[in-house]
Amino acid sequence: MKFKLTTVNDAHQPVIAKILKDLQQKKEKAVEIGNETLANDCWREAEALKLNIQYIKFFEKIKARKYRDAWQILERCEIKASFIEKNSSTEFFIKSRGVFIREKVCKWQSLFPYCMFFSPCFTVEYYTCSICGHKIRPRSRCSHVKGRIYNGDLCVHMAHGMSIKEVSLVSKPVQKYSVIHNDETLDFSLVDYLADLLENPFEDWDIVWTRMSFPIEMFSQLNPSAECPCKSGKNFEACCIKKQEVSIPHVDFVLSKKIPEGKAEIYFPY
Ligand SMILES: [Zn+2]
Ligand SMILES: [Zn+2]
Repeated sequence: MKFKLTTVNDAHQPVIAKILKDLQQKKEKAVEIGNETLANDCWREAEALKLNIQYIKFFEKIKARKYRDAWQILERCEIKASFIEKNSSTEFFIKSRGVFIREKVCKWQSLFPYCMFFSPCFTVEYYTCSICGHKIRPRSRCSHVKGRIYNGDLCVHMAHGMSIKEVSLVSKPVQKYSVIHNDETLDFSLVDYLADLLENPFEDWDIVWTRMSFPIEMFSQLNPSAECPCKSGKNFEACCIKKQEVSIPHVDFVLSKKIPEGKAEIYFPY
């Protein structure tokens, strides 16, 4: 079945639910007749379609300035893309926009100002394999590999008897959804800037992180006890305040279309 999936509106077509339902039925039949290759193909098609829809939903959220929702969808895209990649040919992953989405997810994440997260630590009594139910112990494992698909189902290890041990604050979390910040206190101008420039989720774009130096006079309004613009983590007065120039992180947005007048200027946040 051919259909277009490029804009936010395309993601709301009723045909998509039908395609997903058909793939599910086709997969069940394939399992029944013992055709594992076909069952896995159905899983792959369905997951790639869901990944595209998820990325479009992210785009809708970011356009609507729903930063936290958008951030959480990005993480779901990241996880889904990694499972699809592990279980597909490179050709399929490129064709189904997996490579595009994986790359863009990582770049969007780098534009968000979130930097501190809660990280819960659990103790687990035991895990079981989602495919065969085997209780996994150090010397007793089944033949299924976590993250691989078998008969169109993803193998995961299910935790039993979980209890939370401690919660720590980290800057590089295993799971990115547990942001501790209050969005209202943060600067989302980089995310906003890009969201305004893009009309549809699959337009190509890139970012290049560099540094740019500005004369010290341009920072005369900055409170000496504020964080130094060079992002060293120190206070301005303990860092660059006596220098002639301050080198600050800078990002160039690269688009395949002309950047509108007024948007092409260098944004100086101080
Ligand atoms: Zn197993
Ligand atoms: Zn500095």
